[in-house]
Amino acid sequence: MWKSVGNGTLEGVSSVSDIDPSKLTITTSDTLKPIPPSETLQFGVTKTDHMLVISFDPENGWSAPEIKPYGPISLDPASSCFQYATNAFEGMKAYLGPDGEPRLFRPNMNMARMERSVERAALPSFNSQALLSLIKRLVLLERRWIPTEPGYSLYVRPTMIGTRSSLGVSASDQALLYVICLPTGPFFLGASKEISLLGVSDTVRAWPGGTGCFKLAVNYGPGFQPLREATKRGYSQVLWLLGDKITEAGAMNFFAVVERDDGDLDLITPPLDGTILPGVTRQSIIDLANAHTEGKTPLPNIPPSQKLYVHEQDLTMTYLKRWHDQGKLIETFCVGTAVIVGSVTKIGHDGKDIVLDASKVKHSLTDAFLERLSAIQVGTFPFENWSVPCNP
Ligand SMILES: *Cc1c(COP(=O)(O)O)cnc(C)c1O
Repeated sequence: MWKSVGNGTLEGVSSVSDIDPSKLTITTSDTLKPIPPSETLQFGVTKTDHMLVISFDPENGWSAPEIKPYGPISLDPASSCFQYATNAFEGMKAYLGPDGEPRLFRPNMNMARMERSVERAALPSFNSQALLSLIKRLVLLERRWIPTEPGYSLYVRPTMIGTRSSLGVSASDQALLYVICLPTGPFFLGASKEISLLGVSDTVRAWPGGTGCFKLAVNYGPGFQPLREATKRGYSQVLWLLGDKITEAGAMNFFAVVERDDGDLDLITPPLDGTILPGVTRQSIIDLANAHTEGKTPLPNIPPSQKLYVHEQDLTMTYLKRWHDQGKLIETFCVGTAVIVGSVTKIGHDGKDIVLDASKVKHSLTDAFLERLSAIQVGTFPFENWSVPCNP
């Protein structure tokens, strides 16, 4: 099901052009915007000067890529993306290291995921390595927008939308692929660094056989009303449950740290069973935990003798409450490109709260993962070629 096609062809359409980075044209903006002070940045608000745009039609395939001034796009009101939500996207970040080099974090994972999302929405396939080389080109052009303060970066949002202008309820054979960039700060500006979650099971984000494991716009809009209810009740995000089973928190993957009888720690996250978005950060946490336990790359401020055992297994509210009652639930945290790693200190469910005191944790894994990932992302801690320079 996750097979990528990546040859720029639609079923039944032979040899149309794929994305060709050598055909890129760049039109720079006459008036560059002033860059706001980093501390005023709110996530997703400020856009840079330029965007990358490529269009697909079944006769000609992918058009010559264009980098041009950021601005509105004009679409037929009957477009598939408006009527039937044929929209797939990605979220990745570019960081500027102390050497001034812009870098992307494990971008191949985002590209592979976008191929899968696009395939699931029956949108035209594309060569994601060609797209990645164009994203690097755009990031280099927008380099002055990448904030250098710790915790700041340039958020990159590749998006594909179906642009077939017909109400016929079927696949869009036309599409627009664009990439926009937004300078962004730490997820929690000033406010509390702690996330509180409200467990919700009367509405569901994802279900077996659904689209939860793809980054499709259809998965997000229906979550806003439950989120509004949760925030009214004083929680910062929804913890999406399937019955008793924990899936994800907001648009973040969820982890629980549980103390074992032998004093080592179990690191538990739900398995990729189709209801979980396969996060790049989630996989990176798993990889870093394994590298620690194998003694290869110990995590900062965690004793090397403290073993971490990763379990991708079902996690239920019943177990979470039991471990908490037994004093074994040490930490819970959420991960994703935007938040990186965020401590969860309160989980509401069935009228009661599980409350965790982050300050009581001697060797915080939340802090260790956040510190290590941030260092890898800016390029100060080289690890497994995860940090990829934009300069060729
Ligand atoms: C994007 C996303 C994540 C996090 O994925 P990353 O690749 O780590 O950014 C987790 N859950 C959902 C639902 C998401 O959309």
